[in-house]
Amino acid sequence: MAEAITVLHGRLIDGTGAEPVEDSAVVVRDGLIEAVGRADELAPGVEAEVIDATGRTVMPGLIEGHAHVSGKHESQRRLRLTLQRGITTVCSVSANTGGIALRDAIDSGDVRGCARLLAGCIVSPTNGHVRFRDADGPWEVRKAVREMVQAGADFIKTAASGGFWGKNEVCAMRNYTYEELAALADEAHAWFRPVVVHCHTQPGLGNCIRAGIDQIHHGAFIDEEAVHGIQERGLHYMPTLSVTCQRNIDALSDQPWQTREMTQAQPVHREGVRLAHEIGVKLAVGTDYPGTPKTWKIGDRTWWELWELVQCGLSPMEAIVAATRTNAEAYGRLDELGTLEPGKRADLIVTSADPLADLPAFQHAESISLVIKDGVVEFADEQYRQHYRIREPQPPDRPQD
Ligand SMILES: [Zn+2]
Repeated sequence: MAEAITVLHGRLIDGTGAEPVEDSAVVVRDGLIEAVGRADELAPGVEAEVIDATGRTVMPGLIEGHAHVSGKHESQRRLRLTLQRGITTVCSVSANTGGIALRDAIDSGDVRGCARLLAGCIVSPTNGHVRFRDADGPWEVRKAVREMVQAGADFIKTAASGGFWGKNEVCAMRNYTYEELAALADEAHAWFRPVVVHCHTQPGLGNCIRAGIDQIHHGAFIDEEAVHGIQERGLHYMPTLSVTCQRNIDALSDQPWQTREMTQAQPVHREGVRLAHEIGVKLAVGTDYPGTPKTWKIGDRTWWELWELVQCGLSPMEAIVAATRTNAEAYGRLDELGTLEPGKRADLIVTSADPLADLPAFQHAESISLVIKDGVVEFADEQYRQHYRIREPQPPDRPQD
């Protein structure tokens, strides 16, 4: 059945970085964007349901690029609350095989009302910072990548350095060697799967860049050489600044082995992002979502990351593009996600706050008025709910397996 919706009269930010369009129209049909333009040029079809967005902003749903969603019972609730905060796609760097099942259940419509999940599977060294499929040496690494692709991974996640998290590790510990990273990237690319790497320091950063790892995540102790290397190779850098922001450090004050190193990294991390922005590195948005409930409610952290990026020199518009178009590109999904352009999946939000003037307003759930995913209204606030029928909520969460 053709389901058509026209979102009318809002200020449109389309995710491409183009100037906003005042008094816009977005026509949605059968789950896809059919047309985008000015309201006086695009009359809604007679059968289309009209959503009046006068006085509000219409923009693409955000893509959270570095999440931890495994497919366990709690995951469905998280992804439902996430969607209600205007984050329509979540890329889980530790989805692993449980997350693949949840991804498929969401894609098929068996599990409704959740953000879309892209499932990353971990291949990493014995005793590495991240763990799922331990593999050592280039040939075992290749085998592990093949296993994860066979299981249904959307992308491969690995580690090239230690991290803040473990009590017995520091960021400067090397994880995979160059030879292992090169084998991993080559094998994943042979199956057309992107690779994302957890890496904070040298020598890991240089190893990843040389190996052609698609996305470098974190880089809390990134140096100039690495920033330039990422730029020269055309790789994506997802800094996850929220990890070393003061709000996060304060929340983890009972874990001094983490906060000591985070405090050291804080200015280095930001200096690196400032330089990356200046020289035109492709900056992407991820957070280590959802973070500790001691300071972040579900969804807070992704929006907060945009604000962190703005403080490192990005314009609010550049930060929005990073969380939409650039993230879609980084994960090889730009043909279907990331911008409001004809032919793309209709993932969009209507917001009462002004993202170009007041990003901190998005720390409040009430700033999101309406969320459409795949052309279906999945969330509407009180005001819209009076005019719009939301499909029945699904029965209480059940464990996935
Ligand atoms: Zn992480």
